[in-house]
Amino acid sequence: MNVTESDRDKKCVELYGGEKSKSFMLHLVRAYALPQNVKPVRKFKEGQRSRCATCGAKLADFEGMLNVGDTQVVTDEMMQELIERVDINHDMVAGNVRIAFEGDETSTCLCADCVKAVNKFAVNACAAGDPVINRTVSSMRNKANGVDDKPKYRYQSSTEVQTIADLPGFRELLAQSK
Ligand SMILES: [Zn+2]
Repeated sequence: MNVTESDRDKKCVELYGGEKSKSFMLHLVRAYALPQNVKPVRKFKEGQRSRCATCGAKLADFEGMLNVGDTQVVTDEMMQELIERVDINHDMVAGNVRIAFEGDETSTCLCADCVKAVNKFAVNACAAGDPVINRTVSSMRNKANGVDDKPKYRYQSSTEVQTIADLPGFRELLAQSK
């Protein structure tokens, strides 16, 4: 059975909608939604699964895909040069096996089409105003741009207590201590 683009899209929505799978989908968004964080796997780490975490497609690492084995014909530099040509738009497929991609801080692997589906899901969820995905994506962007997005002192002129400084009496206390 062939997995179609709409199957992959549905799967992302389904994972995000599920009580137990929501955090897994958020994990995938964090790991895969920024294309610059996604790279083909050169060699699987011990215990890394050679299946796409969302569609279940069989995956191989880059070295397995090239099938170089121990022949040593391909130098490390050649390997590096070749792998840099592979991205989600320049996929490698051999029969029913596809190259594995890995994202930021994850041990899961996805096939190229599922990376695209996660990306599309994140874009759509942001456009639809999903606050959780919005926050996740903007925090990832900040991280990628080297911006520190740890919560800073926020003061809002509302009656709501936002920080310790908004507590009644805090400002007076501060004024007195000067
Ligand atoms: Zn997949």
